[in-house]
Amino acid sequence: MGSRKARPTNEGGSTGSGCHYGVRVSEFVLRNVRIVGLGDGPGWAGPVDVVVEQDAVQNIGHGVEKPLGIEEYDADGRWLIPGLWDQHVHLAQWTAVGQRLDLSGSESPEHVVVRVRDHLAGHAGPLVGFGHRLGTWRTEPTVAALDAVAPDVPVVLIAGDAHHAWLNSRALPPREGVVAENEWYDAYTRIELVLEPDLSPAAYRRTLERAAALGITGVVDLERGQTPADWEQRESPVRVRVATYADGLDATVAAGLRTGDRLPGSPELVTMGPLKIISDGSLNTRTAWCCQEYADGSGVGAPNQSSAELAGLLGLAHDHGLEVATHAIGDLALQEALAAYDVAGAVGSIEHAQLVTREEVATMARLGLRASMQPAHLLDDRDVTELIWPDRAERCFAFRWMLDAGVTLALGSDAPVSPLDPWLAVAAAVHRSADDRPPWHPEQALTPREAIASSVDGHGSVHAGMPADLVLLEADPLQDDGDSGDQASRLRTMPVTATFVAGRLVAGGI
Ligand SMILES: [Zn+2]
Repeated sequence: MGSRKARPTNEGGSTGSGCHYGVRVSEFVLRNVRIVGLGDGPGWAGPVDVVVEQDAVQNIGHGVEKPLGIEEYDADGRWLIPGLWDQHVHLAQWTAVGQRLDLSGSESPEHVVVRVRDHLAGHAGPLVGFGHRLGTWRTEPTVAALDAVAPDVPVVLIAGDAHHAWLNSRALPPREGVVAENEWYDAYTRIELVLEPDLSPAAYRRTLERAAALGITGVVDLERGQTPADWEQRESPVRVRVATYADGLDATVAAGLRTGDRLPGSPELVTMGPLKIISDGSLNTRTAWCCQEYADGSGVGAPNQSSAELAGLLGLAHDHGLEVATHAIGDLALQEALAAYDVAGAVGSIEHAQLVTREEVATMARLGLRASMQPAHLLDDRDVTELIWPDRAERCFAFRWMLDAGVTLALGSDAPVSPLDPWLAVAAAVHRSADDRPPWHPEQALTPREAIASSVDGHGSVHAGMPADLVLLEADPLQDDGDSGDQASRLRTMPVTATFVAGRLVAGGI
């Protein structure tokens, strides 16, 4: 895409040395840019000029006058959207995943064991793997099988949905099968200490720079086991909303931190996020809490806390100015969560909302709760859903129902469960297929416009008065030839020219 480099126009004696990452250029005019229409209004027909001053978009129009002393760039007719957000990220795990053995696509426990054996033949332990999914496996993973190929070094294999891990005896003695849900979450923090992924400020920065290069200007970090003080050491090129879990709620309340407050001592782009609650399990682990039994006879799943505990947490958070992000994958978990939000008057989001009823969607709309959903999960969960929830597949990833009911959709990745890539999420929402098969329940698909509008933190089209979190694209993301597969593959590989946060270039260049 280097053939169409935008260039400074050098009018008014500006030196026009170009705008490069690391240089603080927060005031400029971007000429000749197409505003991608994401809202309901008529929008701008042709290329316009956009004036950025004081970290915000100040003016948009044709042939606008350049304020004195600021830079000017020619966007050469490229397309402009608000900065993209990933509303559900586990930043530490995503940073660590880049340092782990990739076990995605493993077809069986035996396949995983072979990959572990091969890896250990060339590397000294300990070994951390990531990405296997046991949803469609026909045999059970056993500790004995791992011990046979790794008797001496700790081996920890974290599932692709992060809800369980398969460990050998050296990592966590002694048991027969996998470690799931709360037991796994408790173990995770201890295991992290032993395995020491590089979670230095530099490693975080690299992770966030990779995200910025894809057009990300903000993430909601739902990582477990961190405190606001951890962010004092870190730098971030993008906005970060940092969640707390129940175990950090008292300290958050004592510090007087409310959702949206800047974290004391942290970079200015880092703010307090929501309280995160994981109210039930996951589909693959068969722990998502459902109204009806799973088709394979594995029960109805289970809640991770009592209704009273859930209501108590929501009430406490809401009374102290915190939004709440509640994980609910099964429809019964969602029903319980909605009842608790209703009683507490709490605000925020339902995370995943993977299996819903129309009645629940209407309740979400009435309560003003966002649906924080991860479209790429449907690519991974399609087959296992048909296997264990065949009677309810049409109620999964119900994006269309959400928009029809007036629920605000907020897309994300749940990285590391799927990659931190907003274009993968948008493409999956539009096409609902990862392969040659036709889209899965296409009646629930979004248009490219709806999918992108659900990824910009509610800003709609770029407009005067919004923060200058902006993404310049090489191609028209709304190009429509009527084929959702073609649209999805174009969106999946959308070339990003430049990403600005608060008017500052953080990735790419013009
Ligand atoms: Zn998550």
